[in-house]
Amino acid sequence: MTRAYNFSAGPATLPEPVLAQAAAEMLDWRGSGMGVMEMSHRGREFDEIFARTELRLRELLAVPAEFKILFMQGGAIAENAIVPMNLSRGGVTDHVVTGLWSIKTRQEALRYGEAHIVASNAADGAANHTTLPAPATWRLSANASYVHVCSNETINGVEMHELPDLRALGCDAPLVMDCSSHIGSRPIEWTRVGLAYAGAQKNIGPSGLTLVFVREDLLGHALPFCPSAFDYAVVAANGSMYNTPPTYSIYIAGLVFEWMAAQGGVAALEQRNIEKATLLYDAIDGSAFYTNRVAREARSRMNVPFFLPDDRLYAPFLAGAEEHRLLQLKGHKSVGGLRASIYNAMPLAGVQALVTYMREFAQRHG
Ligand SMILES: *Cc1c(COP(=O)(O)O)cnc(C)c1O
Repeated sequence: MTRAYNFSAGPATLPEPVLAQAAAEMLDWRGSGMGVMEMSHRGREFDEIFARTELRLRELLAVPAEFKILFMQGGAIAENAIVPMNLSRGGVTDHVVTGLWSIKTRQEALRYGEAHIVASNAADGAANHTTLPAPATWRLSANASYVHVCSNETINGVEMHELPDLRALGCDAPLVMDCSSHIGSRPIEWTRVGLAYAGAQKNIGPSGLTLVFVREDLLGHALPFCPSAFDYAVVAANGSMYNTPPTYSIYIAGLVFEWMAAQGGVAALEQRNIEKATLLYDAIDGSAFYTNRVAREARSRMNVPFFLPDDRLYAPFLAGAEEHRLLQLKGHKSVGGLRASIYNAMPLAGVQALVTYMREFAQRHG
């Protein structure tokens, strides 16, 4: 067996030691006589797994005590509805549009109230969402219950390298962010955040688990029709066990958190992510063959869309990549081209192998 380098945007590559440990513990978790999938979520063994997972996550991301961490289901797309059901009070919400995920979020929010677009990188004439509107230009509402951003646009490859400081903009509303595709890749400035959510399957573990970090003062305002299982206050009061949580996904996430700590934590991972992204962007910018259309200061460290000079070259590029065991490089259908997702679990050697292949391909076809 040889593992390939897998550039999938999500579900995405996981650290090999995590998969090896999960395999070793599949039939019998640490002498319990049971696999993790077979355990009661209320039993002693899973209690231990859950408590350690939450603690590790809180330590890794330096989550302040006033934030509850909720382990939920439904993914980030469900959160697009769950957030307004919990926080909007049926009124106005503000949305910064920077790509396809933040557009989707705003469309879902329209079902629950007035969802204003306060800034958009489509409005400035940029094709395909390639810039970030400066916070000073956002037309924030006076009465919004929150301001929503997607801090890393997975499809468009646009990342906020600094979170907006809403208070400095004269806005008291909490910042809500979808950080699905870069959570754990860099530290989070919690003083600027009210609520953050992330589907696990990009940088944390398997799909089926959604992490929600919510400041306690935002709990308790769910709309009457909000399902109990999606009411943050109910989920928090029950320690994420109001309904059965995705136990196996939580266990794998816990193993990933241990792996992250062993790598030196989030600050060390961030340095490695900068190194990987720089290597790939330099290879693109340094060639007359490949292009990336995102403004430099808005480029994502995690998701790198890029293009070839001729549409006829995509099929041979992808076929050759597969021969080199470089997988899932096809771009999202809405953007086209190619996309390399280089999350925490993608080693530097994987990016080096990709860059080497790209050079060879450009020489042959340039
Ligand atoms: C992947 C992704 C989603 C969708 O997540 P689901 O788990 O399919 O709901 C939403 N937002 C962002 C930023 C993503 O990367």
